[in-house]
Amino acid sequence: MLEMIEDIDPGALLVAMRHTIDRLELQFAQVAAEFHQTDQWDRDGFNTSGDWMRINCNMTSRNVWNALVVGEQVRHLPLSLEAIQSGDIGFAHLAIMANTADKLDGFDEAKLLPLAKEHSAGKFYRECLHYRHSADAKGYGEEQERLVEERSLRMNTAEDGCLLITGVLDPVGGAAVRSALEPLARPSGGHDDRTREQRLADALVELASGGKPAELHVTATVETLKGLAGAPAGEMEFAMPLSSATVQRLSCDCSVMRVILDGKSLVIDVGRSKRLVDGALRKVLAVRDKHCQWPGCDRPASWCDGHHLVHWIDGGDTNLENCVLLCKRHHRMVHEGRWKLIKVDSQIVTIAPMVTFGLPRGPD
Ligand SMILES: [Zn+2]
Ligand SMILES: [Zn+2]
Repeated sequence: MLEMIEDIDPGALLVAMRHTIDRLELQFAQVAAEFHQTDQWDRDGFNTSGDWMRINCNMTSRNVWNALVVGEQVRHLPLSLEAIQSGDIGFAHLAIMANTADKLDGFDEAKLLPLAKEHSAGKFYRECLHYRHSADAKGYGEEQERLVEERSLRMNTAEDGCLLITGVLDPVGGAAVRSALEPLARPSGGHDDRTREQRLADALVELASGGKPAELHVTATVETLKGLAGAPAGEMEFAMPLSSATVQRLSCDCSVMRVILDGKSLVIDVGRSKRLVDGALRKVLAVRDKHCQWPGCDRPASWCDGHHLVHWIDGGDTNLENCVLLCKRHHRMVHEGRWKLIKVDSQIVTIAPMVTFGLPRGPD
């Protein structure tokens, strides 16, 4: 077979093969609808004919459903049947048409077929939703409400402290989440080598932090804050013990920080004004910096942390001179990634860490 088709244009070959497969899919659907009327699946111990096909024909639920609904509806769709035979539409179009017919009384095939011929299957699906809404707004609304009822979000903490998230959002809720996350998940700065999944995860955390000093309850010893050898890890609500570098980053600009003074078992709240970049200072900083000061990054001020060039635990002041705005990702690269930031003629210059293996990368 392969030798025979070697000379054929592969594009034309794909189209011809798909046409053959589509017609076979149609035949499969017609036989599936007949099979559904028998009691063979019941005798074989299956709950539904669909389950029988899913297991014995190695199909997904969606494909089984499409076969059954096309097989059931196709006798009401003579024009579409002609169109698939002639290759004007594909089986994907026919399945959408049949699903729409299945949900509507008084379905008019002639209205939708020209749209099926004109559009890709994905676009045609959207056109069919509009058609369904125009023909039966109440039924369409009820279906949307059912989707809302299926919403769920589960959060479980894994043994290593990671948060596992699974869930389903209805179309409107999902769109709201996407439109909030997508702009934040765009690549930022030079050499952003995060995957899309990593950027989306960062965007979610950034969104949850809300662009203001994080309301995180962090507790650590002075030794931990200074990153001294032998110091215990830091503590934070809902989290596993934190490394020194993470404690240093969070304490740079977080609103609730408690420092344990070693030996005295004394817990003090370090004064907000001594360390927190907020109020008037944040406003002035936002006017001066406008966005993250990492070279090439334009994450706006409202999404940035205030970073102390010299940490307050090391005597750095919380003032305009010693603070710069950094987005969450670049703030992390400075503390956990050990990049150095220095000011040269009021310009921020980055210096890569000596050892980069396993650490966040950034602009050269
Ligand atoms: Zn910082
Ligand atoms: Zn940045």
